[in-house]
This record gives sequence, structure tokens and C-alpha cells, in this order.
Amino acid sequence: MSGVAAPSPTIESLIRECRRNIKQAARDAGRAEDTVRLIAVSKGVETDKLELALEDAEQRIFGENYVQEAARKWPALRAAYPDIELHLIGHLQTNKAEDAVELFDAIDSLDRIKLADALAKAMQKKKKRVPLLIEVNTDHEPQKHGCLPSDVPALLQHARNLGLDVQGVMCIPPAGHDPSPFFDALAQMAEQLGLPRISMGMSSDYEKAIHHGATEVRVGSKLFGARPAKT
Ligand SMILES: *Cc1c(COP(=O)(O)O)cnc(C)c1O
Repeated sequence: MSGVAAPSPTIESLIRECRRNIKQAARDAGRAEDTVRLIAVSKGVETDKLELALEDAEQRIFGENYVQEAARKWPALRAAYPDIELHLIGHLQTNKAEDAVELFDAIDSLDRIKLADALAKAMQKKKKRVPLLIEVNTDHEPQKHGCLPSDVPALLQHARNLGLDVQGVMCIPPAGHDPSPFFDALAQMAEQLGLPRISMGMSSDYEKAIHHGATEVRVGSKLFGARPAKT
């Protein structure tokens, strides 16, 4: 062996590996292997890399955090790949509700009554019904976005009264803690409310999330590489 560095894995191989791990985790949990969907989180990832994911790995489900970034990157890609399914996974301001309804196929961060009102209005105006997840602040951290667990039933009822299509729940457990109790709390909440979709698990813990019942995992840095640290 000489001093030749191993080539770094391609985006295609990383996505395929992640899909294999997802299937394996589902089987290990006694679930069917096709019960978990991979949302490739592409915040900060530019179009050249997204094209590799789309073309070489045939990835179609993506998640973005920011409306403006999605507006810049995705319309051109959609023209080439019409079957893209784009999720908004980041916090949404009410004044961007209309843009979000136009750009996204799913909004996974409904967390307050005012936003439900704004989304209902935007969907009526755009004549488009976008499925929603309620983002739950499972750790009760006051600084964090997300609906407090005790407020979720009222938000769900309010959204349904507006005709909104709430399909499930999502959470982002606190960093630096074992996420298991938070995953369990979210899965229990979904079951109690009769909601089929559970979005939880990221690069460092998606397999664990699958063991706790995730139906979709949101994986970014494991597929596209580390993002520059926020300043
Ligand atoms: C960035 C982000 C992810 C992906 O995180 P990674 O650790 O890079 O996999 C998942 N969910 C949300 C809400 C995010 O903001």
C-alpha cells in the first residue's frame, strides 16, 4: 500500500448506503423495510451536488430550511425532474406562508395557530393543498420552535377546522442528550392522535429514530458532507 489517499465517497454512494441502513434498521425493528422514507436535507447544498443526488442516486425527496434558499435553487431543478417532493423542515414566518405554499410539496413545521391561519389563507389563494406536519417541542425548551406537547391537540383541531391536511408530527430533540425519550414521546403522541406520519432522526441518530417508530428521517450532513459552522 503506497501513500495514496482513499477517494472520498460519492454522494451517490452515501445516499445508497443511507438507504441500506434505513432498510436494515427497519428490519431490525421488526418493521417492513419500505416503511421509512429518506428526506435528503439540502440546506447549504448547491445545485451541482443536488444534480448528483437526483441523477446518480435517483433521490427525489428533499428538505430545505429556508424559503428564500429554496426559491433560488429548486424551480430550475423541478423543470428537469418534475417528480421532486420538496419539504419545508425549517421555521416558517407567517409573512412567507404564500411563498412556502407555492414552493413546497409538504410543510413539516406547523407549530402555532397563527401559522395555521396564514397557511389556510395562502392555500385558498393558491388553490393548492399542501400536507402538513406539526412540529412538536418535545423537550419543552422555551427558546425552541415547535408546539408544546400539551398544545398539540388544540392546534390539530384548529388546523382541521380550517380544512388543513395534518398528517403527522415531527421533532428535533435537544443536541447532546440521548434522543430516545423524545422519539418515544413523539411516537406516542402520533399514536394517541391517530396521525400516521412521524418525522424524526437526523444524520447522527436516524437508525435509533427508526427503532422508535420514525416513518421519515431527515438526513443532511451524512449525505452531502458537513455544513460550515453557523457564525
Ligand atoms: C439540518 C436539519 C436536519 C439534518 O441534519 P443533519 O445532522 O445534517 O443530518 C434535519 N432536520 C432539520 C429540521 C434540520 O434543520
